[in-house]
Formats: sequence, structure tokens, C-alpha cells
Amino acid sequence: MDIQFSDADLAFRDQVRDFFKEHLTDELATRLANPKTFKDAIIEWQKVLANKGWIAPNWPVEHGGTNWSTAQEYLYERERAVAGVPDVLPFGLKMVAQVILAFGSEEQKQKFLPRIYSSDDWWCQGYSEPGAGSDLAALKTRAVRDGDDYIVNGAKIWTTYAQYADWIFCLVRTDPKGKKQSGISFLLIDMSTPGITVNKIESIDNYHSLNEVVFDNVRVPVANRIGEENKGWTYAKFLLAHERTAIAEVARSGRFLSELKTIANTEISGGKSLMEDTMIQQRFANIEIELMALEYTELRVLSGFAEGKGPGPESSLLKLKGTEIQQAIQQLRMDLAGYYSGVRQGELSNSELGHEFGDSARREYMYGRAATIYGGSNEVQKNITAKVVLGL
Ligand SMILES: Cc1cc2nc3c(=O)[nH]c(=O)nc-3n(C[C@H](O)[C@H](O)[C@H](O)COP(=O)(O)OP(=O)(O)OC[C@H]3O[C@@H](n4cnc5c(N)ncnc54)[C@H](O)[C@@H]3O)c2cc1C
Repeated sequence: MDIQFSDADLAFRDQVRDFFKEHLTDELATRLANPKTFKDAIIEWQKVLANKGWIAPNWPVEHGGTNWSTAQEYLYERERAVAGVPDVLPFGLKMVAQVILAFGSEEQKQKFLPRIYSSDDWWCQGYSEPGAGSDLAALKTRAVRDGDDYIVNGAKIWTTYAQYADWIFCLVRTDPKGKKQSGISFLLIDMSTPGITVNKIESIDNYHSLNEVVFDNVRVPVANRIGEENKGWTYAKFLLAHERTAIAEVARSGRFLSELKTIANTEISGGKSLMEDTMIQQRFANIEIELMALEYTELRVLSGFAEGKGPGPESSLLKLKGTEIQQAIQQLRMDLAGYYSGVRQGELSNSELGHEFGDSARREYMYGRAATIYGGSNEVQKNITAKVVLGL
């Protein structure tokens, strides 16, 4: 994409580049990539960003936001992707914080935001339930008022990183009567409260990120409710738009695609490379075109942020296309791995390729299956787009 940047923008880009080079050491990058060391490593990295003041660009300045222009935000994301710097954990910084900022009381802002900013609290998201995924408003986890507390009973499922979490933000049913969307409240629950159990869920990528969280007579102060009772659906939808925007990962896809190009240009036996195959060229071209178009949509959303608007229905388009492109890249990576990893191991002229490439392709592919499901499945994003954008 050709965008004209000012000299100040380019100086900012260099500053970001130098910062990543200096602070994301190979040793830290290795720990971030290893599931066994990930938790401590990501907290360590997020604290580096917080100290620099770059951890929460979209927050208001008085709470630590950067007030970057659209161009700066774009350049930051691009440099982050090129340097292979992981995104921050979204649950606290990009999700619940946005709800607290928009709808929380002053006390809630003072209590929760600084510890989210400094990564002292790890958050998880308690939306989905066994009978409430796409039809989220069907949720049944019940919160019954008892003096200054709610008593919460029920279960959440697919809760990412609940095993590490200090807090969970939850949608609960406070009124079982009437329209299902109107009896929901938004609660912040301390995970150390008695009555909470976290059960591990096994997944095909063989990596523990998913959990079931069970609530058995869990006492939650009413002071931990965001906004009004029974108005939680409004806050939930607001949060989902932020979640979907973050899932698109346009810059990261760009980096993966250019890595794959380098690999596809590597010679295999006979002095030829896969890139000489017109079918392979066509697949690269198709993905690249889609990615370029998506980049413009992302810029539209970013410039909306800069004007103080929240993400609207474009976040559904970003999520939908962003995850389709991610999966197309993962599929291409698997197909290249068929040639360049174990299968043709003996024939490789570039010793840096091999099993490691095959392993990373498999890992990305397995975890990547979930991207069209989480954050609201892609079929549901199509429904939203049809209704809100196309007016069908
Ligand atoms: C890796 C991963 C991490 C997750 N992390 C979290 C988390 O941290 N917190 C959390 O709360 N949730 C989390 N989720 C849950 C996720 O939000 C749900 O899986 C998702 O919303 C889909 O709900 P479901 O699994 O109940 O599927 P269902 O709603 O049962 O859908 C099943 C299938 O039917 C389709 N479908 C359903 N309704 C319609 C419709 N109206 N029109 C067309 N097609 C339809 C869906 O697209 C899907 O293909 C995670 C999921 C995954 C896979």
C-alpha cells in the first residue's frame, strides 16, 4: 500500500523500529514462543511497553493512551508485525478496559485501569456457555441479588487462559423474564473468590489455552457491576466490536506472507523453486490482493478511532476477511511445508528450512482453525454485515 508519510511519521517509524530491536531480545522472543514460558514472558514484555507508554494506544491520554494519529498507529502496527513482536493480550487492555472506560464508574476506573495498564492483573472473558455461543443472549449463568452482593451460579466455556486469570468479566442473567437481551448484566469477578473452579479443555493444537469456568454460589459485590443492571447486552456488544477489530491481524498476515514468499523462492532439487509454478504464483497473488483491500478497511476503522468513534459494523468485515486470509496463508504454508519440510528434507539446498518449518506450519494451521469461530463465528459476521451494512 502506498501512503504518503510525513518526515515526522517516518521519524516515529524509526523510533518504533529501534525500540523493538533493542527491547525484544532473541532470548525474550524464544520464551514468548514457548507455551511453557509464555505467561511470564508476555507479562514481562507488556511491562516493557507500559514503561515506554505504548501499551494502550487507544485509551484516553489521561489514562495512559498515546493520542497517536492514524498514520502513527498504522506504522506502529506494521513495525510490530515486521519485527515479529507479539500483540498484547486483548482481554484486559483491548476488551474490558474499553467497557470500563466507556461505561464504568470513576471508582471502577481508578481501581481496575492502572492494574490492567501495568499487566498486574490477568483478565479472561466469560461470555460463551455450553448453550450460548452464536446465540449469546441465550446465556443462563444466573446472578441473584443478595444485599450488596450477587450470588452467581452457572458455567462459562472456551474461556481462554482462565487458568492464569486474576479476574473474569462475565455476562450473567439478572432477569430471567422478558426478552432475553434485556435481562443480562456485566460483572467483574475476582477469580480467587470461593466457589470458582477452572477445568482444562484439551484442544487439537495440544496447547492448553481453553477452559470451562464453573460458578457455585459465588458472591460478587454489586459494586463490581458495570453500568446498570439488565443493560449488560449493550456493553457486551460494544466490547465485541473491539474484539473483532483486534482479531483481523492485517499486519501480521502481511509478515507471514512475505516470509512464505522467501521460502517459496528457495530452490529445491533441480535448481527450481516452487514460486516458478504458476498455480503457486496465483495463490500468492490472490491472497495479496485480498490483504491489500483489507488494509484499507483497517485504515478506515483506525481513522474512525482517531476521530473518537468506536468500531462499528466494519469490525465484522475486518474479522471475517482477516480470518479468511489468515487461514488461506496457513493453508499455503502447510502446502509449502509438504515440499520444504520433512517430505523433501534430504533435498533441501537451504539448511534453515526443514522440520522446524513443518512444525511451525502445523502449529499455526491447527490453532488457526479457531479464528473463524472465536469472537463470533464468521457465519454470524455475515449475518451482521447483511443486516447492518447491506440493510437486508
Ligand atoms: C479458540 C477459541 C477461544 C475462545 N475463547 C473464548 C473466550 O475466551 N471467552 C468466551 O466467552 N468465548 C470464547 N470462545 C467461544 C466462541 O466465542 C464461540 O465458540 C463462538 O461464539 C461460537 O459459538 P459456539 O461454539 O457455541 O458455536 P455455535 O453457536 O453452536 O455454532 C455452531 C455452528 O453453527 C453456525 N451458526 C450458528 N448460528 C448461526 C446463524 N444464525 N446463522 C448461520 N450460522 C450459524 C456457527 O457459525 C457455527 O459454525 C472461544 C472459541 C474458540 C474456538
